[in-house]
Amino acid sequence: MIGGNDRRANSLEARDVATILHPYTNPVVHEADGPLVLARGDGIHVIDSEGNRYVEALAGLFCASLGFSESRLVEAAHRQMQALPFYHSFGGRSHEPAIELSERLIAMAPVPMSKVFFANSGSEANDTAIKLVWYYHNAIGKPRKKKIISRQRAYHGVTVASASLTGLPYTHKAFDLPLAGILHTDCPSLYHHGLPGETEEQFATRCAQSLEALILGEDPDTIGAFFAEPLMASGGCIVPPATYYEKIQAVLRRYDILLIADEVICGFGRLGTLFGSEAFGLKPDMISMAKQLSAGYQPISALMVNETIYGAVREQGGAIGTFGHGFTYSGHPVATAVALETLRIYEERDILGHVRAVAPVMQAALDGLAGHPLVGDKRGMGLIGALEITSDKATKTPFDPALGVAAKVGKFAQARGVITRAMGDMIHLCPPLIITADEIRDVVAKIGGALDDTLSWLERGN
Ligand code: PMP
Repeated sequence: MIGGNDRRANSLEARDVATILHPYTNPVVHEADGPLVLARGDGIHVIDSEGNRYVEALAGLFCASLGFSESRLVEAAHRQMQALPFYHSFGGRSHEPAIELSERLIAMAPVPMSKVFFANSGSEANDTAIKLVWYYHNAIGKPRKKKIISRQRAYHGVTVASASLTGLPYTHKAFDLPLAGILHTDCPSLYHHGLPGETEEQFATRCAQSLEALILGEDPDTIGAFFAEPLMASGGCIVPPATYYEKIQAVLRRYDILLIADEVICGFGRLGTLFGSEAFGLKPDMISMAKQLSAGYQPISALMVNETIYGAVREQGGAIGTFGHGFTYSGHPVATAVALETLRIYEERDILGHVRAVAPVMQAALDGLAGHPLVGDKRGMGLIGALEITSDKATKTPFDPALGVAAKVGKFAQARGVITRAMGDMIHLCPPLIITADEIRDVVAKIGGALDDTLSWLERGN
């Protein structure tokens, strides 16, 4: 990374700063620091433009499950590019990769599912789900049942509707969001919101009671759906307390409210189950998925819907004359071919079995950092985990955000050859699913080193 005045004119860094508006980047800091320019990938590693090698301990953005040099995915893309590089699925057009991928997804689904709708991003899949909640309730003659409940700290995307589902201040602030009719109930984080001495079950009961109070306060006849990411990943790696979904789903059933599971990160083995819904007993009506669906090699997402939802779509679309929703690249042949090959690799190499074998190594190694003076909490499950940085373990007081302490841990980790992500006060770990036990120990040791570096930096007075 070449900073400020040192940045050479016409370097990639200078050209980046001159032209790119980066997602989720502080523009002022970016102009001073410049980008990290990546040149190539090799297994779980990426190599920057200056030849520095890093373990990608976040699998890019929670997606590169098979690492960065899986030749079978390259070949699958190449083959499909040669055969049929583009076609759409409007007006009943189709092709074999999309058909085979849909069949596989329906066969893998954690609950019986009827149809698959393809899109390009998690946000689009969730927007589609919101539109189907509305379409469905119009079809069944309940046009008032349109409000949607999400949770504080949830992450469901950034398009106008999915950003409204997201429960993080920076996705709303100054964007005039959330949209009216999208509500947020409690985040089920015992660490942040549990009362002193409260058990997981008691906390889960309180979350369910609070949801019910929100529903009753709004009028149950106006609430159409509840969105949940089984384990809230970006929001802080929040593992729900025991019995949470059992109690939440009992409330949803009582008021005839649909459940949509956002499996964009949890899906395809991340938690040691095929889907996060299996890990926590969710019985969703729709499931959105993306990221590990194609190991991140192609932009593709999908929304699976059950027969009840499909039946209403069929009736409504038939009456209107068409199901008036879809993207040019819905079911793109290259993206579906790569996703199909990804699912074949998961099965042939028993990636799920591998995750189950190495996940305890990662969780134990991270537990080993829980005693570090800067770590307030360690959370995780399967091959995802996070450390919450705190200035005072007993009171759980965060550092002044202006100090950017978690971001500093991320920078020190990068200097030690590990790319991770600092979000708020959290350091997230979500490595490629192919990572080995030894590589996990090495990554976590380097994160430990970065925590020590950060402590020394704080003690030096920055
Ligand atoms: N849902 C979840 C749970 C996510 O983590 C994300 C992205 N991190 C999204 C939806 C949005 O996906 P995308 O960035 O592909 O729009």
